[in-house]
Amino acid sequence: SKTAYVRTKPHLNIGTMGHVDHGKTTLTAAITKVLAERGADSTTQYVSFDRIDRAPEEAARGITINIAHVEYETDTRHYAHVDMPGHADYVKNMVTGAAQLDGAILVVSALDGIMPQTAEHVLLARQVGVDHIVVALNKADAGEEELTDLVELEVRDLLTAHGYGGDAVPVVRVSGLRALEGDPRWTASVEALLDAVDTYVPMPERYLDAPFLLSVENVLTITGRGTVVTGAVERGTVHVGDRVEVLGASVETVVTGLETFGKPMDEAQAGDNVALLLRGVARDTVRRGHVVAAPGSVVPARRFSARVYVLSAREGGRSTPVATGYRPQFYIRTADVVGDVDLGEVAVARPGDTVTMTVELGRDVPLETGLGFAIREGGRTVGAGTVTTVG
Ligand code: GDP
Ligand code: MG
Repeated sequence: SKTAYVRTKPHLNIGTMGHVDHGKTTLTAAITKVLAERGADSTTQYVSFDRIDRAPEEAARGITINIAHVEYETDTRHYAHVDMPGHADYVKNMVTGAAQLDGAILVVSALDGIMPQTAEHVLLARQVGVDHIVVALNKADAGEEELTDLVELEVRDLLTAHGYGGDAVPVVRVSGLRALEGDPRWTASVEALLDAVDTYVPMPERYLDAPFLLSVENVLTITGRGTVVTGAVERGTVHVGDRVEVLGASVETVVTGLETFGKPMDEAQAGDNVALLLRGVARDTVRRGHVVAAPGSVVPARRFSARVYVLSAREGGRSTPVATGYRPQFYIRTADVVGDVDLGEVAVARPGDTVTMTVELGRDVPLETGLGFAIREGGRTVGAGTVTTVG
């Protein structure tokens, strides 16, 4: 049988962000390689570039989910790390909370500097409450020192402009590619990056005493065992044998198995990325966007008020205002639901504005004050908001 997951170190969720081709996937592979080769007692498995880049794509409810999770361990922490291939994946997975990042590694190519998606991902991170960013100034093997210095200044300014205190943010010059090739100098650079992450990204507060809640990212069938849902535990704990309800599917059931990264566990906690095996639940009754929770702990609703930032055209948003009667998609946790917008007396919101709105969703979903969400239209994000009142 499989080795059980042993919780020996605090667990954090982290991910690479940044413009396409700046080296996110290469760096992710390099991190696992450097840690795997640290010594005989290393608990990290090397994951190659190809295995990260060819993470299985799954379509659920018309949303293509494309996200690779790898795990690794430093001396002090266990990390789940997400690498997302395309810009649309960031928007879906970060803004909806599916990625649930406790911190992020912003990858910036020293050769190219800040590019549009660099800025957009910093903006997204701020919107979804990622409070700590560490910068990997990648491709430092190929860049000229003076140019790299300029890129560093530029990145610090960008971070400061988004409230990250750019002067204090660790900026580490790395080469994912050379580290992957085993070059000692650049292997050391990846070690330095990991040290920066270990020390600069604090352990987030986990709401372990709260009732269990997990928003479903993916649904799978394991032949002979039943239906499995995967996702990150948002709060609370869950054990094998616990009763849970699936909101959206309107079923109550029992958790008959729990795994993280293929390893069985008895208890999953807030912050863990897990697979839950659910007793007697048919594959087609549960979908991405449903919420698994302690029975009776959440009451779904469809009306709420929110503070919403309408993205400017420069940030990839609309170029024209929105008005009462606007009917976009709302991405709430892992769900996407249509909603009617009422702007009240303001009546219109221009790109770049922050406004208060009332929303009537097309169906009930678990809502609460402080919950973040994204507003999408025609495949792009046009707004990001926070629930202020429910009902
Ligand atoms: P992603 O789109 O951000 O995931 O970028 P990839 O990891 O796919 O890398 C894009 C390209 O940059 C590939 O051709 C890599 O080999 C190259 N690359 C990545 N990291 C480095 C590096 O540290 N140095 C150099 N010279 N090239 C790199
Ligand atoms: Mg990539």
